[in-house]
This record gives sequence, structure tokens and C-alpha cells, in this order.
Amino acid sequence: MSFNIAIDGPAGAGKSTIARRVAKELSFLYVDTGALYRAIGLYLIRNGVSAEDEQALPEACRQIHIDIAYENGEQQVYLNEENVTGQIRTEEIGKMASAAAAKPCVRELLLNLQRDLAARADVLMDGRDIGTNILPGAQLKIYLTASVKTRARRRYLELVQKGDECVLEEIEKVIEERDYRDEHRDIAPLKKAEDAVLVDSSDMSIDQVVEQIIELYRQRRRG
Ligand code: C5P
Repeated sequence: MSFNIAIDGPAGAGKSTIARRVAKELSFLYVDTGALYRAIGLYLIRNGVSAEDEQALPEACRQIHIDIAYENGEQQVYLNEENVTGQIRTEEIGKMASAAAAKPCVRELLLNLQRDLAARADVLMDGRDIGTNILPGAQLKIYLTASVKTRARRRYLELVQKGDECVLEEIEKVIEERDYRDEHRDIAPLKKAEDAVLVDSSDMSIDQVVEQIIELYRQRRRG
């Protein structure tokens, strides 16, 4: 039976950096589920479909096929056979992904893809509802969070390094809005699974968080 690790938490908590590192050390497959919602967001933007359009959205969902492949150990996301991995990391797409992720047809579209991957291999999957909804039987669940201020500062530094112009207060506001939407949606809201371990990374280095998760994994393996 495959071993599944679920890491959930809000935007900017460091999930993907940490998940990628832990997966590498444990030789697990890393599945970034946010990228799947982002690929759907990209489709909707390209086709001018609003996530709030109750007729057009289910119609669009029927036209969307999402798939994952791995190249040199890196996850690649395919939208209707097109590799869109390099196009989905924008704020605009993040916002559209978050709006679409609140809709049942979108979540339904990605459910089996995620569960099939986890059944086939040892995976470390990060997202918002992995421990609560996608893989409720995961052997290790982590809820990784950090204060809004810390998360906004990290995102700000990331953008500045890329040469983007941005304002810290605005990033903080966007993060707060996204948290609110993800936590308050009716289906699969972002919340800590009862049996998840809470890790607050506000005052921890990446190395410390990685070590803590690997130690938790070893404990679970020892049973
Ligand atoms: O993690 P990332 O910022 O790439 O995710 C984009 C959006 O996709 C999130 O704001 C969230 O609304 C949605 N999402 C989700 N469930 C997941 C992963 C992401 O609803 N498992």
C-alpha cells in the first residue's frame, strides 16, 4: 500500500518549497494540487468564462481535461494536452483558481486524478483539502501555516527578487481575501483536519520545518 502525506495550509505558508524538499528527501512523488486549479483558472481566463456563471462554468468543465506528468522529477501540468506549467504562476490566475475552486464541478473534475495518483505511488500532496477531503486516510497529515504578516513579507520578497514592483500592504490584503474565500466556501473549505499536526512556520526556517516533517514521518513509519 502506498504511503500518503498530506500538507494543507493557506497561501504563502511555504507549502510548496517545503513539500518539494521533503518529497525529494523521502523519494516521494510531489503533487502540487494548486497547479491543477490554476490550470483550470487559465482555461477560464482564456475563454472569458466567469467562475460565477452557473451555466457556462459546468459547460467549460466538460471541455477541460487536466493531466500530470513528471519531467526530471518536476511536475508538469497539462491542460487539454498543452503543457501549461510555465504559465500559471500569476496573481490573476491564482485569483481565478481560487474563485473556481469554490465550485462543485471544478472540484469534481480533479478529485479522481488526485486520488488515483495517491493510490499508485508514495505521494506527498499539498493543497487545501487533501487531509480533510481528498486523502482522508493519509498516514501523515500536516497543517502548515504562518501569520498573514509573515506570509505577505515572504511573497513580497519573492516578487521583488523577480524584479516585480509591488506594495507590501496590497499583498497582505490579497492574501487575507484569498484566505477568507478558501476558508469560508461551502465545499471543501480550507481547514485543519482533526488528525493533522499543526506546524506554524512564522518563526521557523525552511530547514527546521523540513526536519520536523521528516521526523514525524519516521515516527509514523515506526508506528
Ligand atoms: O496553492 P495555490 O496558490 O497554487 O492554489 C491556488 C488556489 O487553488 C487556492 O487559492 C485555492 O483556492 C485552490 N486550491 C484548492 N484546493 C487545493 C489546492 C488549491 O481549492 N487542494
